[in-house]
Amino acid sequence: MTSVATEHKSDDIATEEFDVLIVGAGVAGVGGAYHLSTQRPNGSFVVLESQESFGGTWWSHNYPGIRSDSDLHTYGYKFKPWTGPPIATAEEILKYMGEVIDENDLASHIRYNHRIESASWSSEKNKWFIQAELTDTGEKKYFTANFLWMCQGYYRHSEGYTPDWPEMDSYQGEIVHTEAWPKDLVYEGKKVIVIGSGASSATLIPAIAEKCEHVTLVQRSPIYYSTGRNRDDLAETLRELDVDPDWIHEIVRRKILRDTAIFFKRTLEKPDEVREELLNGIRSVLGPDHEIEPHFTPDYKPWRQRVAYVPDADFFESIKAGHVSVVTDEIETFTETGVVLKSGETHDADIVVTATGFNMNVLGDIDFTIDDEPLVLSDTVTYRGMMFTGVPNLLWVFGYFRGSWTYRADLLADFVCRLLTHMEARGAPRVEVSLRDEDKNMELLPWQDPESFNPSYLLRAMPFLPKSGAKPEWHHSQDYWEDTQVIPAIDLDGDEFIYQ
Ligand SMILES: Cc1cc2nc3c(=O)[nH]c(=O)nc-3n(C[C@H](O)[C@H](O)[C@H](O)COP(=O)(O)OP(=O)(O)OC[C@H]3O[C@@H](n4cnc5c(N)ncnc54)[C@H](O)[C@@H]3O)c2cc1C
Repeated sequence: MTSVATEHKSDDIATEEFDVLIVGAGVAGVGGAYHLSTQRPNGSFVVLESQESFGGTWWSHNYPGIRSDSDLHTYGYKFKPWTGPPIATAEEILKYMGEVIDENDLASHIRYNHRIESASWSSEKNKWFIQAELTDTGEKKYFTANFLWMCQGYYRHSEGYTPDWPEMDSYQGEIVHTEAWPKDLVYEGKKVIVIGSGASSATLIPAIAEKCEHVTLVQRSPIYYSTGRNRDDLAETLRELDVDPDWIHEIVRRKILRDTAIFFKRTLEKPDEVREELLNGIRSVLGPDHEIEPHFTPDYKPWRQRVAYVPDADFFESIKAGHVSVVTDEIETFTETGVVLKSGETHDADIVVTATGFNMNVLGDIDFTIDDEPLVLSDTVTYRGMMFTGVPNLLWVFGYFRGSWTYRADLLADFVCRLLTHMEARGAPRVEVSLRDEDKNMELLPWQDPESFNPSYLLRAMPFLPKSGAKPEWHHSQDYWEDTQVIPAIDLDGDEFIYQ
């Protein structure tokens, strides 16, 4: 059988050629398009997106109350000031991204409904051969690109993760995942169970609780929450002083980054103190009538999983008002009318919402081949969490677990543009990272240290992810403050980079 790559390489298929192909039109892909159009105006590029519009996460998630839990000064791009309250709804983020597209004439570069199925690298032609399927017609489209910029995010947009609980099929009510919220779902006046602790349930619940008959949050284990107002005093003061919005954006970004760094350092040095502060924030809202144990007292140290930010403590206000009960227990089985928990407690509901997380998508669920050999990503070693040994002309944007995704996307965008310009200057059509002689005996580690950050979607995907190495060059630092210094200063002629 002829492989797609071989067929495609035979030049008898209508193929569009680009210098750079960006996978995905979420925050990373749209940001990438902006950086290419401004930093490399003479290069050609295309963004292929499988959904019907831009936004990625903010397009695919429609559940009531959806909002960021990062502030938009750091989650927004460095090049476009954010002028609203720090925490934003999906609609506000989409509006902001739409403005980036309009103001920079990016629309003509983006093709929607293009799901990339395969990407094959040919060393003979020093190109990627890409096959996409039009999601509306099933038609195949073919592209070549010198460089692949993987902005496909980290989870599958087509389906969320739902554990396989016994007897789910027998349940007569409706089961809905937060990632696939039906627009016409009627929850008003209904009894609703929400399964899963996390930012999604903490944003969904206050948005629906008052309208439901009652909401019960069933969580296997608690997480940390931090509470505060959806307002940045410094930004407000600077606005009152009529300071230029570009300046305000930059000043507030720096302040938030500094504050986050201090907070993170404290979680390492004084975890018990930070834990008490976080728990006291909840106690002060719930008051003496609500015991916070065991529902809000995680058994891990703060920051081992993302801390969910609850603006204006609305989630806790819903609990205090009696609209929401919290149960910390595991599901034993579904029944026709609800769930039975391991403790034997039963809870009935008209609707069960599974806020149970993601299935990670590794490199966009695309079939990758390198010179007709399937790419086994878990056999590669990552260069700073963005490139992989043995995989030429490709960069992957994987953001920060503990900080805003976009600031790594911006940093890596500058890096890609610099790398492409460097390749051009060297007359090198191909770049690849490779372990140096001094790295050959380096200990190889999982993509992410499970002791440091261990959400279950990541643990499930770890066997499929690239390896890290026990040296700074060979792992994703997860540290913006380090990356801000290191990434712009990377020596592109260093021995890790092999050009041809
Ligand atoms: C509800 C929710 C809230 C979040 N809040 C925050 C937050 O406050 N702060 C934060 O830092 N992070 C947050 N995140 C994480 C969030 O995913 C990232 O912040 C960010 O949106 C990732 O952007 P991205 O462009 O890299 O990926 P995505 O937003 O995942 O977009 C990737 C795009 O690539 C497309 N794609 C994937 N594979 C293919 C393919 N094979 N062919 C074509 N197109 C493809 C997808 O359709 C998608 O549109 C949140 C996540 C969720 C689900």
